[in-house]
Amino acid sequence: MSEIRLFVSTTEAMAEQVMHALSDLFGEEDYAIATQEMDESKGIWEASIYGPAEQEPEIAGRFGGLVEKSFPALKVEREVLPDIDWIAKSLEGLKPVRAGRFLVHGSHDRDKVRANDIGILIEAGQAFGTGHHGTTAGCLNMIGDVLKSRRVSNALDLGTGSGVLAIATRLMSRIPVVATDIDPVATRVATQNARLNGVNDGIHLATAPGFHHAIFREHGPFDLIIANILARPLMKLAPDLVRHLSDDGTVILSGILAGQRWKVISAYNGAGLKHRRTTWMNGWVTIELVR
Ligand code: SAH
Repeated sequence: MSEIRLFVSTTEAMAEQVMHALSDLFGEEDYAIATQEMDESKGIWEASIYGPAEQEPEIAGRFGGLVEKSFPALKVEREVLPDIDWIAKSLEGLKPVRAGRFLVHGSHDRDKVRANDIGILIEAGQAFGTGHHGTTAGCLNMIGDVLKSRRVSNALDLGTGSGVLAIATRLMSRIPVVATDIDPVATRVATQNARLNGVNDGIHLATAPGFHHAIFREHGPFDLIIANILARPLMKLAPDLVRHLSDDGTVILSGILAGQRWKVISAYNGAGLKHRRTTWMNGWVTIELVR
């Protein structure tokens, strides 16, 4: 099912006003509403509402009515977001993606890796995670920052997909990494990708829904847990996830739309973690939490 984003493009102050008006209008309904800065040099902001594509006519009608009445100078625009189907479409020929020191690339772009880069080879394939999605890129950036600034001696990548985040973590830090996915296709692809990147020795893979597997007990607790899944499953997983985190551990969560972040953060506050920071990319957020 695809997601759509309906938005207006305006100043920061006006975007805030539109966001509040949207929150009043759509109040209790389960849509994500957010503002984000689109162009720093020009001071352009957007206020957006996200929803499932089949609800677009209804959302667009109500948003359009609001704008017409209260913000007549603005125009509602739309964008279809990349499918959150876990099986990625064919991404062949896509450009390499840079996120901090990491450069995620296909085999046709091996020569783009520069001396100081950590190159990650991921072929477009059947599992999610080529780096082109804002959530993967957000996680890669944050993994780079956390590994630079904190002592981390082991890591878990829950919902590994193509294995991209586990591979990045292992390549940068040489620590042991556990990577799991609910989908056996993903685990198989991740195993191949780990081998292609020469890190299959350091990454332990398993197919498991959530934390239902002995691998977590055998290798945990973890100093760093990364989970790029989606807001709802992440909220459900909060108690289990925190149980597998070491005493001064760090958690990186993504797959969360901007407007859903407070719900996710409060679920993890309830499980004993503190919010450290949130980064934004294309309407998606990546959240860092600590004990
Ligand atoms: N880590 C990759 C892939 C993210 S896509 C990246 O950042 O790009 C999310 C992955 O989580 C999918 O491969 C999906 O199969 C997996 N997943 C979804 N729910 C899960 C659950 N409850 N337990 C484990 N994995 C799950």
